[in-house]
Amino acid sequence: MNNFSGIINSDLKSLFNDAISSLLYDDALTIPCTLYYGVTKYEDCANCVFDPIGNKSSNRFQDGGPVPFPFGSICPMCNGGGKKGLETSENINLMVIWDYKQFMDVGTVNNPAGTIQVMTFASNTPALKRAKELIVATDIAAYGRHRYQRISEPQPCGWGNSPFISCLWERSG
Ligand SMILES: [Zn+2]
Repeated sequence: MNNFSGIINSDLKSLFNDAISSLLYDDALTIPCTLYYGVTKYEDCANCVFDPIGNKSSNRFQDGGPVPFPFGSICPMCNGGGKKGLETSENINLMVIWDYKQFMDVGTVNNPAGTIQVMTFASNTPALKRAKELIVATDIAAYGRHRYQRISEPQPCGWGNSPFISCLWERSG
C-alpha cells in the first residue's frame, strides 16, 4: 500500500471510504450478530425472598416461585446468594469476511479455518472491545450459533482518518 501513497489523493480516499460506507449500510452485505458482555447486571432471585440488610437470600421461599424449598434452607435457584446474574448483550450488524484469503491488511493467521474478520464503523470500537464473545449470523440457522472471541485489536482499515475498523475473531464454540 505504501507504494501507492504518492498517487492516492484525497478524492480517491473519500471515494474508497464512501464505497465501504455504502457496503456497511447495505443490509445485504452485513450480518446480524450479537455481542455478549458477560454478567453486568443482577436481579433478585425469583424463587426466594431477598434480605436487603444481609444482601443475600433470606432462605424463605417466594410464593409463586418455580422451585419450592423448606423454610430456613438454602434456595436451590440462587444457592443462597439471593441474586441472579444477567448477561447483557447487544445486536449489531457487521460485515463478516469468512475466508482468510479475503482478509484485508492482515499478516499471518494462526488458525485460518477458525478465524473471521469483522468490519464495521469505528464508532463500534468500544462495543467490540467490551464484548466477551460474539455470535455471528444469529438469523441464519444453517450457520449454527458459532461463538467467537476477539484475537486482535480493532484497527482502522482504509486510508487517512478512516471511519472503519476491522479485527479478527477466533471460533470458540
Ligand atoms: Zn433464591
